[in-house]
Amino acid sequence: MEADSFAHMAVHAGWVAPSLESKTLQEHLQQQVVTAQAAAFIDRHRCCPACGRRLSSKGKYPIIFCTVLGNIALSSPRFHRCGCRPADTGIFSPLAELLTEHTAPELLYLETRWASLISFGMTAAPMLLRDAVPGKR
Ligand SMILES: [Zn+2]
Repeated sequence: MEADSFAHMAVHAGWVAPSLESKTLQEHLQQQVVTAQAAAFIDRHRCCPACGRRLSSKGKYPIIFCTVLGNIALSSPRFHRCGCRPADTGIFSPLAELLTEHTAPELLYLETRWASLISFGMTAAPMLLRDAVPGKR
């Protein structure tokens, strides 16, 4: 059986999803993992660290976190601080305090590196390829 025939048969048999390419799959996986990590972080900060009382909610707002694989939309809840410590009042957002930067360090690194290599033109192409293709040396 030729490779094309096998791939065609595999698609029709439902063994592979042709619309889920590697990057899309990684992007989807990253979205799920980061969303779960953010939810777990928010849950850990939903109660007062001093008395343990559950903090009341003050709504939520969207945060976009930019990564190498794409942008991730997160919902960032805001909470009223507990009244058990009068000096510590107001509203805070645990996720906003965690994500002070909305761009992943890896993306910042690549953007900075690639911007610095642009002036070298095609002579920098091998270096850009090494950055873009894992394992390519
Ligand atoms: Zn408290």
